[in-house]
Amino acid sequence: MGLKLFNTLSRSIQEFAPLAPPKVGMYCCGPTVYDFAHIGNWRTFVFGDLVRRTLEFKGYAVTHVMNITDVEDKIIKHVRETKTSLREFTGKYEAAFLEDLKTLNCRLPHHTPRATEYISEIISLIEKLVQRGIAYKAADGSVYFSIEKYRGCGCTYGQLLKLNFDEMKAGERVKSDEYAKESVADFALWKARVPEDGDVFWPSPFGEGRPGWHIECSAMSTKILGPSFDLHLGGEDLIFPHHEDEIAQSEGATGKPFVKYWLHGAHLLVEGKKMSKSLGNFFTLRDLLAKGFTGREIRYLLLTAHYRETFNFTLEGLQGAHAALARIDECLGKLREAAGAPASGSARTDPQKNLQPAGSVTGAPNELLARFTDALDDDLNISAAWGTVFEWVRETNRQLAENSLNAADASSALTAWNKIDSVLGLGTKSEAEVPAEISSLLAARQAARQAKDFKKSDAIRDELKAKGWVIEDTPKGPKLKKL
Ligand SMILES: [Zn+2]
Repeated sequence: MGLKLFNTLSRSIQEFAPLAPPKVGMYCCGPTVYDFAHIGNWRTFVFGDLVRRTLEFKGYAVTHVMNITDVEDKIIKHVRETKTSLREFTGKYEAAFLEDLKTLNCRLPHHTPRATEYISEIISLIEKLVQRGIAYKAADGSVYFSIEKYRGCGCTYGQLLKLNFDEMKAGERVKSDEYAKESVADFALWKARVPEDGDVFWPSPFGEGRPGWHIECSAMSTKILGPSFDLHLGGEDLIFPHHEDEIAQSEGATGKPFVKYWLHGAHLLVEGKKMSKSLGNFFTLRDLLAKGFTGREIRYLLLTAHYRETFNFTLEGLQGAHAALARIDECLGKLREAAGAPASGSARTDPQKNLQPAGSVTGAPNELLARFTDALDDDLNISAAWGTVFEWVRETNRQLAENSLNAADASSALTAWNKIDSVLGLGTKSEAEVPAEISSLLAARQAARQAKDFKKSDAIRDELKAKGWVIEDTPKGPKLKKL
């Protein structure tokens, strides 16, 4: 079975067949860098990472592009209000974004083009649209995309959603980057300089000004991935007008089909409600880290729901993520120990238990991989994928408890897990997650034990317990476990 994905363009689940396999060109609309990205944004970016990792898991050579929108309406407003330069203002949030991407263990895109570094590509794309008669300069000095002319060429405006043109008056214009589908109108490609723009403007054949938001993505994606490419991703809120306008601009300029598969991630609710600062349920990634959650826990929780379902993100869910990860970590820890033990060790002490070959056991490595792959192939059915993982954890724990896994079995189970984790991106529980204070208490306890000062070592053990950590003494030395 091959990978199947829901394509917003066809409103159906389709077999994924890239234009030039094994290569896949994938563009994700990146952040608008005027603030720290919030957890709703992160759901989309983690979804993008899941798509990329799944494609790589399946052997595709992905070129992943994610733009940085560093000039648009909101940014200019903030630059004006904070009286900083554009680069100074956006640079701070861009750096924070890339850092957060790493905290969530997202693979870094191969290209992260900034809109301000593609001004000449943006201008030539607009010139092409003007030459083809699809764009025009209005009395306010700005250049607009003509929906009427575009449709007149036999092109479809409204590929990703149905639009009603009955109410639309020819030549009606919208200058703002964001508007509802009820106000479908000619949209701005180049915005003529106005006093409020301050220093944010560039010279162009149409006069001084700055690009509209939608044209930025068309220029950057086609420059890096070519006029036609495989995948375009974003949050569902970008379907209109942003993605619809991207299609119109790109196909209007090149005359070629722009993107083969459009994938959209659903919204996120926080504590059952739409996120808003006034409700107190608005979280950036940094807010959640400050509450003591880890990037790994947040990534796990964001990955538990299917990308096309609205997901209710809760702090209780994050506690649950902690527990779920602990189950996985504990199983992996034991597997590592079993894999390290000699084959003639304590495993397989009961010959009766060896009657069933490892390959036929539910949760055996090959079956685990096959079922996990089937789940992903089914439009990234992540719930089924996690179901497979936890079934495997249960079965592996049972086998470990029965000592029916030898070192070779354990090591092949770990190899399978590593393949699966190349998609899930959980990594191993970082030692860094043990606070420095706790690590030094552990070291002090070891020193006390070596000095045979058991009174002191017991006192430290109690102190660690009071701080929420227990010590497990194993043949390979003491291990810390969070209560
Ligand atoms: Zn975009």
